[in-house]
Amino acid sequence: MAVTEPVPVETPAVPEPRGGYEGILRRQSLRESAARTYARSLPIVPVRARGLTIEGADGRRYLDCLSGAGTLALGHNHPVVLEAIKGVLDSGAPLHVLDLATPVKDAFTTELFATLPRELADDARIQFCGPAGTDAVEAALKLVRTATGRRGMLAFTGAYHGMTSGALEASGGAHDVRVTRLPFPQDYRCPFGVGGERGAELAARWTENLLDDPKSGTPAPAGMIVEPVQGEGGVIPAPDAWMRRMRTITRDRDIPLIADEVQTGVGRTGTFWAVEHSGVVPDVMVLSKAIGGSLPLAVVVYRSALDAWQPGAHAGTFRGNQLAMAAGAATLAFVRENRLAERAATLGARMLGRLQGLAANHPCIGDVRGRGLMIGVELVDPDADTDALVPPPAPRLAETVRRYCLDRGLIVELGGRHGAVVRLLPPLTLTDEQAMAVLDRFADALAAAERAPHPRTDAGPSH
Ligand code: PMP
Repeated sequence: MAVTEPVPVETPAVPEPRGGYEGILRRQSLRESAARTYARSLPIVPVRARGLTIEGADGRRYLDCLSGAGTLALGHNHPVVLEAIKGVLDSGAPLHVLDLATPVKDAFTTELFATLPRELADDARIQFCGPAGTDAVEAALKLVRTATGRRGMLAFTGAYHGMTSGALEASGGAHDVRVTRLPFPQDYRCPFGVGGERGAELAARWTENLLDDPKSGTPAPAGMIVEPVQGEGGVIPAPDAWMRRMRTITRDRDIPLIADEVQTGVGRTGTFWAVEHSGVVPDVMVLSKAIGGSLPLAVVVYRSALDAWQPGAHAGTFRGNQLAMAAGAATLAFVRENRLAERAATLGARMLGRLQGLAANHPCIGDVRGRGLMIGVELVDPDADTDALVPPPAPRLAETVRRYCLDRGLIVELGGRHGAVVRLLPPLTLTDEQAMAVLDRFADALAAAERAPHPRTDAGPSH
C-alpha cells in the first residue's frame, strides 16, 4: 500500500535552477550562516509536499516526521489550510494590518478561545506577538514581571523556550531576566537517581524548599515557565502529579504559572493542550507553531488580572498575519472537529508500544518515551564502562540513525541534552499504514546503524 501521498505535479514549483538541486545546496552552504541547523542534517531541496510526504528536487520522496519542528498538525498543504489561505487572498482583504481588528482575526481568536481550558478562556486576554514562539515567550516573561513587580524567573533543567535575548537589551528596554534553574523530573536520567514518582516528588520538594528558604538566594520570582512535555530537551513528559504540584506551589505563593505550549499544543500530545493531561490551568499560555497552520503566528494568552501592561508594552510590526490566522483557525477547527488529539493519543500509544518492543532487541535503545505523537527514542552506548545507573548517551549513533533514516526516505530530528534522542513528530493525520512504514524504516535504519562503525565516545551535542 502506498504510504506517500500523491503530490501535485501539474506545475513545476520553481524554475530549474542553475546547477540543479546540487547547485542550490552548494549555494546555500556558501551563502547562509554557520548557524544553520536542519539544513546541515537534511541535505534535500523540498519542492512539493502533501501530508506526511515531502518531495525533493531530485524526485525522491520522504516521510516527514519532523513536521516543521512540530508545526504541521495536519501535515503539509492540507486542503483545509490551502482553502483558508486562498479564501483570504480571493477576498481582497488586506494582508498587512498591524494589530487592527479584522474578521479573520476575530474568527481565529474565537476558535482559539473555544479550545482553551474553560477556566482560562472565560477570563482571558490575548496578545498577538511577533510571529515566532520566542517572541511570545518574551512577551509572557515581560507580562508577569510587569504584573508582579518582581524580576526573577523560575525555569527548568533541559528547558527550551527560544533564541532571543539581545533585541530588548539593545533597545534599552530590557532588564536582564534572572533565571533560577529547577530540576525537571525525568525517569531515565533522574538527577536524584530514583526516577518515577519518588524522583518527581524530590524534584517538587527541591522547588518548594528553594522558595520557602529565606536564605536560598532566590527572591520571590515573577513567574514559573514550564513545558508540559519538554521537546528539544529530549521528549520528556512532565508527570501529571508533578504538574499539579507546580500549580499548587505557584498558586500558594502568588507566582504566575506560564505553560509554554509552543510545541505541545493543538492535539500533539493526545489532548488539545498538554496541560489538560494534568488538569492544570495555567495563568499564562504561550502558543505558536501549529496555531498558524504552517504559517508564522505566536500569541500569549493570560488571565485578565495580569493585564497590567501599558499600550505598546509589547509590540511588533508583523502581529497581524492574516494568512496565518486563517490557516490557523482552519487547523484548530479541523483538529477539534475530527478529534485528532484522541487519534494522536491512540496512535502514539501504539507507536510507543512498537518502539518498546524494538528496544527489547536493541540494547542501544536506552529509553522510549513520549506522549501522543511526540515521541523520543534515547540511544545509548550499552557497552560503556561506567558506574552510572544508565548507560551514557550515544549522539554519534543517533546521528548515524538520522542519516540512515534519510537514506530510507524518513526525516527525523535529534534532540535531548546530548543530542542522542531521535524524535518523531509526525502530523496528527498520520494513517496506520504510514505509522507502520515510519517504524519499519526507523527499525531498518537503527539495525544498519548498529552494525556501522562509529566512534563510541561521544563529543557532546550535535546541534
Ligand atoms: N518554546 C518551545 C517549547 C519550543 O519548542 C520552541 C521552538 N522549538 C520555542 C519556544 C521557540 O519557538 P520559535 O522557534 O518559533 O521562536
